[in-house]
Amino acid sequence: MTEAERWPRSVGGHIALDFVNTDIVAEADRSTDVLRSAGEFLAWCAYAGLAAGEAGPNGLSHDQSRRLLATAAVLRAAVRAVVEAVAEHRDADRDALSTLRSATADAVARAVPVLVEGRIVWSWEPTADAPVWKLATAATDLLRGGPTERLKICPGCGFVFLDATKNGSRRWCSMEDCGTQEKMRRYVTKRARQRTDTHATSASASASTSTRTSDSLEP
Ligand SMILES: [Zn+2]
Repeated sequence: MTEAERWPRSVGGHIALDFVNTDIVAEADRSTDVLRSAGEFLAWCAYAGLAAGEAGPNGLSHDQSRRLLATAAVLRAAVRAVVEAVAEHRDADRDALSTLRSATADAVARAVPVLVEGRIVWSWEPTADAPVWKLATAATDLLRGGPTERLKICPGCGFVFLDATKNGSRRWCSMEDCGTQEKMRRYVTKRARQRTDTHATSASASASTSTRTSDSLEP
């Protein structure tokens, strides 16, 4: 299995959205969740481009692993709640907003600010917690700075993503997955309708023939 096959599809167009999508993909089977163990979570973070830090899962105590997973799960649920609310143009849950605020405040409190090309960028010591802080600030940056009008939910699988098309026409998480499935579904429906129409036409044709036959038998 390749790395890409091992993890939920990265189609969000933003790290915070890909993180939310790990929750959506694991809803049916929590044993597949990237948050099922600290090792799995940190491996996903490394795959997603968030350096997992030097304190890998082997360097974490049982309690530290549990705390890391709990913090990540709370953050993910909050980001998901807010992102879905924004994509559906409705109010977000106040608790979710507060959770996101707290997680971001924690992250910033531990950050080392550095100037990169004239802008302040938060960076963190490479600890196991660093990916969670990066995810929290990334989510807040997106939800504060946008482009939130580009946030969408795939009608096929529920994945959230940023529509980066020029005319805002992206509907699916990806054409290869839900887009193709939808095309297949439409094709099957169309074929079924065509078959029904053909049957109906031949049935009415034979009905009119039999009518004519009976007509001709009439005195
Ligand atoms: Zn989809």
